[in-house]
Amino acid sequence: MQAHNALFINGTWRPAAGEDRIEVINPADEQLLAEVPAGNAQDVDDAVRAARAAFPAWAATPPAQRAELLTNLRDQLAHRADEIAETVTAELGSPLVFSQKVHAGLPVLVAGSYAELAASYPFEEQIGNSTVIHEPLGVVGAITPWNYPLHQIVAKVAPALAAGCTVVLKPAEDTPLVAQLFAECVEAAGFPAGVFNLVTGLGPVAGQALAEHRDTDLISFTGSTAVGKRIGAVAGAAVKPVALELGGKSANVILPTADLAKAVNVGVANVMANSGQTCSAWTRMLVHADQYDEAISLAAAAVAKYVPGERVGPLVNAAQRDRVRGYIQRGIADGARVVAGGPEAPDGLEKGYYVRPTVFADVTPQMAIAQEEIFGPVLSILRYENEDDAVRIANGTVYGLAGAVWAADGAEAGRFARRLEAGQVDINGGRFNPRAPFGGYKQSGVGRELGEHGLAEYLHTKSLQF
Ligand code: NAD
Repeated sequence: MQAHNALFINGTWRPAAGEDRIEVINPADEQLLAEVPAGNAQDVDDAVRAARAAFPAWAATPPAQRAELLTNLRDQLAHRADEIAETVTAELGSPLVFSQKVHAGLPVLVAGSYAELAASYPFEEQIGNSTVIHEPLGVVGAITPWNYPLHQIVAKVAPALAAGCTVVLKPAEDTPLVAQLFAECVEAAGFPAGVFNLVTGLGPVAGQALAEHRDTDLISFTGSTAVGKRIGAVAGAAVKPVALELGGKSANVILPTADLAKAVNVGVANVMANSGQTCSAWTRMLVHADQYDEAISLAAAAVAKYVPGERVGPLVNAAQRDRVRGYIQRGIADGARVVAGGPEAPDGLEKGYYVRPTVFADVTPQMAIAQEEIFGPVLSILRYENEDDAVRIANGTVYGLAGAVWAADGAEAGRFARRLEAGQVDINGGRFNPRAPFGGYKQSGVGRELGEHGLAEYLHTKSLQF
């Protein structure tokens, strides 16, 4: 695609108010890909005004019509899947096969699920003598990160539009090109002007202006816990609802009855996917003491297949690379044992923000590498003595986003999973369900995305008593 030197506001591509630009860099070769406008508070205000003006008519549009436009959007995303995959590979650095399957494929599924839900959702229900109406909240400010750049956009914009809300999106500065491509898809799908608006820009400028804007009705944010806390505080002061999808430190608990080799192999693959830049990644593997040494050997063998520059892409930028290498050094300093990888640059890669896929053994629950989100291809393997011990370790972080449990049968793993403080737990590998709610316990967030639960986030509830 050709990058736009413009913002998408009120149905047209128009210049930004200021001169500031964002340089988009390919993290695999450090080359400049394109420049896009860095919008400012004036641009955000224009976009919010457009979204406000478009809201009454869009809210009054029958759900079946909203569903038709969402179907068009799904078709646009499917039609342009190759271009989407290439764009994400260029600006995020993920291997093309992964971009095709996940970065381009997932948004089609999610947009499709909201096209169906818009048509079938019970926007009105009868409870005894009351008619309960679910009305759109209004103007949504959406702020998204770079790690699954299109998925995270669609997981907010599709349910908001299905609900009858209008949207101003501020995507991550590292991945604005796929956000522009998404805006082109919205335009081609035929949504009325102002229903969806895109302001590319920097977090502390455009992001903050959107989070602080008085005329939005909901802020939906996905990103780091640090920024999420600030956005929550601003929304709290305005008594404005906020949805936060934040970080994680998810546990992959392998119970003694499990198929150890399968659990370890899938566990390693889960952490290496997207170069470890997945908020729900199972970054702590919990193994019974009797199987610990065997699990370490299996993990070391499994990770050897993840060659940087082939199956594992770079990290998104130099700062993230340095942060992840810093955590690897911290793990070594704290006494964990490196069984694969390490903090040095990978061999033979002169350019690009690469990190060696790394596995740590002898990790104790209080170490930084077992407590803090690293956001890179780094796995910590911890030992537990019994089930209660495993539950205590798994639940012993400030996060509670996701997790996994493996056992001989699903029922046993399911019983264990009920004891975990996490919003989503995969049983014996799990299978992705675009209708299942996704979101965090504790400091992993507030609210849920995807499916009916994700749609409900964008609705007010009113009851009429007869
Ligand atoms: P980040 O918080 O720095 O940025 C996320 C978004 O917020 C970007 O668009 C950024 O421009 C914007 N932003 C930054 N500062 C802001 C400010 N002061 N005011 C308003 N907006 C601001 O996070 P990141 O580095 O882009 O993403 C990585 C983090 O996101 C990880 O911690 C990861 O776990 C988390 N994440 C969570 C989920 C989830 O669903 N729970 C999904 C993906 C990523």
